Amino acid sequence: MSQVLHDVVNPATESVVTSVPLAGIEEADAAIAAADAAAPAWATVAPADRARLLRSFAQSVDDHLEELALLEVENSGHTIGNARWEAGNVRDVLTYYSAAPERLFGRQIPVAGGLDVTFKEPLGTVGIIVPWNFPMPIAGWGFAPALAAGNTVVLKPAELTPLTAIRLGELALEAGLPEGVFTVVPGRGAVVGERFVTHPAVRKVCFTGSTAVGQRIMRGAADQVKRVTLELGGKSANIVFADSDLEKAAATAPYGVFDNAGQDCCARSRILVQRSVFDRFMELLEPAVRGVVVAAPGDEATEMGPLISSGQRETVRSYVEESSEPVDVAFRGSAPDGPGWWYPPTVVLPRATTDRVWQEEVFGPVVAVMPFDDEADAVAKANDTAYGLSGSIWTRDVGRALRVARGVEAGNLSVNSHSSVRYSTPFGGFKQSGLGRELGPDALDSFTDVKNVFISTES
Ligand code: NAD
Repeated sequence: MSQVLHDVVNPATESVVTSVPLAGIEEADAAIAAADAAAPAWATVAPADRARLLRSFAQSVDDHLEELALLEVENSGHTIGNARWEAGNVRDVLTYYSAAPERLFGRQIPVAGGLDVTFKEPLGTVGIIVPWNFPMPIAGWGFAPALAAGNTVVLKPAELTPLTAIRLGELALEAGLPEGVFTVVPGRGAVVGERFVTHPAVRKVCFTGSTAVGQRIMRGAADQVKRVTLELGGKSANIVFADSDLEKAAATAPYGVFDNAGQDCCARSRILVQRSVFDRFMELLEPAVRGVVVAAPGDEATEMGPLISSGQRETVRSYVEESSEPVDVAFRGSAPDGPGWWYPPTVVLPRATTDRVWQEEVFGPVVAVMPFDDEADAVAKANDTAYGLSGSIWTRDVGRALRVARGVEAGNLSVNSHSSVRYSTPFGGFKQSGLGRELGPDALDSFTDVKNVFISTES
C-alpha cells in the first residue's frame, strides 16, 4: 500500500503544519471492513454500557478541549473563541446523545390476535463526509447520534482540515470505544468519499459540503438505495423591518455573516432592509463592519480570521474585485497584510436580484444589502433562491415575526437573533440546502430503520 502525503497548511501564516497520509482505496476498504466487522458487537453492547462509553468519550474531549481548540486555530484559522466553542460542541453533542441508547423507544401498536411492537435497529456502518469549514462540530453531529443508535462509523475529514478529526479518533479509542467502532480515514473526496458511496457495507452516508457534490452522492447512493443525509449550501436572508431595534439589528448583522470569515453555510449573506429605514441602517452598519476585529486567530480579541485557502480567496474575489458584472462596494473593514489568506469584511450593493453576488453562495466575508417594500416583498425576495437553510427576522411585531418565519422557505430561522444551531434542536435545509435533519431529539431516526414484529397470542 502506498499512501500519498498531504501537507496541512496554516491559513493564517501559509506555513506547513504537518503532513498527513491520505488513504487510498485499499486503506478505505480496510477501514470499512473493520467497521463492518465491529458492527454486530457494537449493536449488542448493553444500552447503559454504550451510554457510559459515549459519556467517557465526551469527558475525554472535555479533558483535551484546549488542545483540540489550538489544533483547529492552527489547521483552520478559526478564532480561538470559536475553536473552543467547537470542541465544546463535540463534547455536548456526545453528552446529549449518550442519553439515547437507553431511550431508543419503539412502539406497541394495538392489533388483533397478538402483540405488535417496533424496534429501531441500527443500520450497520455509517460513512460521514465532513467539509473544511467546521471540522469538529459537523463531524460530531454525524458520529455522536450514529454511534448512540448502535452503528459503527467511518469518517472522512476534508483534505484541508483533518487534524482535529484524527485527534478525536484517538480520543475515542482512549475513552474505551472498541477498535473499528469509530475510524477516521483522511483522504480525497473522489477516492475515500466516493468509496463510502459505492461500498455495499456502508449503509448510510452523511454528507456536508457543496450542493454539486451532494447531488453526485445522492445519485450514487441510488444504486444501493443507500440512506443519505445531506447538509448543503445556503444563501440566507437577514430581514430587517422598520419596526425593529435597528441599532441592535445593525450591530449584530456583521456577526451573522462574517463569523468564521463567512465560511458558514448559515451565513446571513443577504441583508434585506425595509426601504423606509434603509439609509439609517447603512449608517449604523458601517461602523459595525469596520469594527470587526480581523487579526491573528489565536489572539483572544480576534473576531475573524483568514479564509481557509488561497483558492477560496480567489473564489471570493471572483464575486467582488474580479467579478464579471459590476459590483458596487458600499464599505469594507480591514484585514492584515502579509502572509495568510486574508480578506476584509465587505458590504456590496447589488443592482438586481439576478446578480451573482445576490444569488450564489460566496462562502467568504461578503454581504449584499438590498431594500424591500413590505412584508410580502421581503418574503418573496428571501425565497428567490435555490437554497433554504437559515435566516433571521428583525421586528418588534410578534405576529409579523411568526408570519414571516412561516413564509420563509428555510429550515432554521431566528427572530431578533442570528442563532442557527443548538444541539438539542433540529438542523437542516429546505430546497437545495439539504435533505434530512441533524441534531435534536429526532436525529436518531435517521440512523435507524424501523422493524415491526408481530407476536401471535393464539393458543
Ligand atoms: P465539497 O463538497 O467540495 O467537500 C465536502 C467534503 O466532500 C470534503 O470532505 C470532500 O473531500 C468531499 N468530497 C468531494 N468530492 C467528493 C465526491 N465526489 N464524493 C464524496 N465526497 C467528496 O465542499 P467544501 O468545499 O469542503 O465545503 C464548502 C461547501 O460546503 C459550501 O458550499 C458550504 O455551503 C457547504 N457546507 C454546507 C453545510 C451545511 O450544513 N449545510 C456545512 C458546511 C459546508
